[in-house]
Amino acid sequence: MPALVNRDMCNSCEECVEVCPTEAISMVEGKALVDPEECTDCYACVDACPESAIGMDDD
Ligand code: SF4
Ligand code: SF4
Repeated sequence: MPALVNRDMCNSCEECVEVCPTEAISMVEGKALVDPEECTDCYACVDACPESAIGMDDD
């Protein structure tokens, strides 16, 4: 279950990009985007996001 960013909640701070150990997150059109192929479900970005914009895509 890779991390998933709610683009409407993302404030473009790039904290998640900084903390991701696998460099799975990049900024696309000003918003964070997770590459599910690179995500290891470590939750670092979920904990780091000040807007609580990241969750696990488990639905
Ligand atoms: S940490 Fe949260 S608000 Fe900041 S860029 Fe990442 S998803 Fe967006
Ligand atoms: S859960 Fe971990 S590996 Fe996946 S995008 Fe977030 S920080 Fe990166």
